[in-house]
Amino acid sequence: MDEGAYPVRTGMIVEEDPAEPIGGGSARAKRTANSSGEGALVSRPIKVADRFRGALLGTQVGDALGMPVEGWPADRIREAFGEVRDMLPARLGRGTFTDDTQMTAALAEALVHIPSLQSPDPDPIARSFARRFDPKRGYGANTGRILSEIRGGRHWSDAVAAHSLPGGSFANGAAMRVAPAALAGYPSGRVAARLAVAQALPTGHSHPESLFGTAFQAVAVSEALRADPTAVERNRPEFVQRIVRTATEVVGPGAPPPAFRPALEFLYSPSLPSVETVRNRIGAGVRAAKSVPAALWAFLASPGSPEEVLVRAVGLGEDTDTVAAMAGALAGALNGAQALPARWVEVLEDGPCGRSHLVELADALLRRARNLGGSPEA
Ligand SMILES: [Mg+2]
Repeated sequence: MDEGAYPVRTGMIVEEDPAEPIGGGSARAKRTANSSGEGALVSRPIKVADRFRGALLGTQVGDALGMPVEGWPADRIREAFGEVRDMLPARLGRGTFTDDTQMTAALAEALVHIPSLQSPDPDPIARSFARRFDPKRGYGANTGRILSEIRGGRHWSDAVAAHSLPGGSFANGAAMRVAPAALAGYPSGRVAARLAVAQALPTGHSHPESLFGTAFQAVAVSEALRADPTAVERNRPEFVQRIVRTATEVVGPGAPPPAFRPALEFLYSPSLPSVETVRNRIGAGVRAAKSVPAALWAFLASPGSPEEVLVRAVGLGEDTDTVAAMAGALAGALNGAQALPARWVEVLEDGPCGRSHLVELADALLRRARNLGGSPEA
């Protein structure tokens, strides 16, 4: 099936600017709660601009919610908090963010101005990552070394050759920050995936698992931007198959890498795996082949309820800020920024790469996408 034939493409998406405040209660007021406390979506229009904002603010909300328990096993989180449903005190303050959000903003800044979407040049992306490098945000050690050297004037390819692992990093550092690629490539999942691969290279995330993981997450956000929430819930396997197909086409021979296959089998199945199965058989660690499918699982278990998606993502433990950032991007892209819990959005850190700036970047990427007028098949 080609992309244009996907049944959830249209439906409730409307082309207007959001008039309501971000993270407002109004969207949630249009939801009903079932016995498990999960929001059931009642039909409401979702504006494209709100979805763009939701993809970036969802990243930030997930990063901030997961940050205080980053690296904790699920059992430790459960013993300490039960579940993480509110912003906890964090090392930089409640509602602060880590490298996931910092690099998401840097990527968005680069993509607003990138000359070509068809054959994207990693150079301006590398410079933007370096310009925004802020060690207190908790970057991976090699990424920090690479960005310091780019900032000092070295070309990214030389810095990567000096500091990256042989064969490239298989971690999720390229996938965690990739949501802006879906916005810049909108409405094409293929363009999003090409941008995703280009932006992975300047930090040495060139391992096949990393490249597939970042392409996979970018296509997933792209699909979520264009999907009807109730249709995603009704047909999860097809949603997953579409993501795998597009990511595989763009990444090319060898994709999906073998390490992804067990997780993809779980996600293809009509009934989603349990949280125990995800923890034991997939995991939520820094390896892209684990954390990227784990984030999609957290999303697919309740696509119409961003709060439940993020609580579930953090509850997996391990790389909590990144898994929740990726799951948050998906939930925000599908439901819009207005559907993000207001009590979380209100306490998000603002400032240079924070909440207001992400909203401006989402709006700028939408203006650019509209001016370019791309097609889903591009
Ligand atoms: Mg982080």
